[in-house]
Amino acid sequence: MHLQKTRTPADIECWLTDMDGVLVHESTAIPGAAELIQRWVDTSKRFLVLTNNSIYTPRDMAARLHQAGLEVPEENIWTSALATAQFLRNQTPASEGHGRAYVIGEAGLTTALHEAGFILTDRDPQYVVLGETRTYSFEAITKAIRLILAGSRFIATNPDATGPSTEGVLPATGAIAALISKATNRQPYIVGKPNPMMFRSAMNQIDAHSETTAMIGDRMDTDIVAGMEAGLHTVLVYTGITQPDDVARFPFRPNQTVDSVADLIQLV
Ligand SMILES: [Mg+2]
Repeated sequence: MHLQKTRTPADIECWLTDMDGVLVHESTAIPGAAELIQRWVDTSKRFLVLTNNSIYTPRDMAARLHQAGLEVPEENIWTSALATAQFLRNQTPASEGHGRAYVIGEAGLTTALHEAGFILTDRDPQYVVLGETRTYSFEAITKAIRLILAGSRFIATNPDATGPSTEGVLPATGAIAALISKATNRQPYIVGKPNPMMFRSAMNQIDAHSETTAMIGDRMDTDIVAGMEAGLHTVLVYTGITQPDDVARFPFRPNQTVDSVADLIQLV
């Protein structure tokens, strides 16, 4: 019988990490996060900070993390918008020329699709791509619904129903996707976590392989399950959503649990 070799943190060459609840709370760095990122940079580790947030470009996100006290180069940020653009580019044969997409979203998504070679248009698009925005318009949603009914493929960057703000929750991509689904009777293909596609596209980006890649996350129901399904070494931190008492309720386990990212610094 062939037994799979047990991976240890020493075998890890590439790191993927969630952002909220792992590196930051809202706009405040979690203790140890800055040091862990610096350690990855100093030891030339390949790494990506993953976020389902599709509002910001990597450059904007790097600037926001800088304000929180974290120095993450923009090339080390992987958003659901970038993953969606990469997925759609791979789905669109080069022989068909530039793909066409109607987009509801912010610069993070429109820039990613533009750089992936897409033309953004409401005239006969192959795709309707829904991302996060703070200015959803009835007019844009109506257009999206009509295009989907006319045959455009429905894609969403992430499934999150709500997002955080200092005043309370905000309706997010998943909530607007539900509205469009109700009106069209079509379900979107959703690229962001917990779809392992988010990790596969990130690993492609840094030429990582699942056997030697770890995923750090704070949620069993997204980060850990998707990391497991993508074949990664999963590390759960207790600085976010999942608390130690919650873990036993899930029918799967992380490979490793630590109190916070501060505990990972000496392992890199
Ligand atoms: Mg999180």
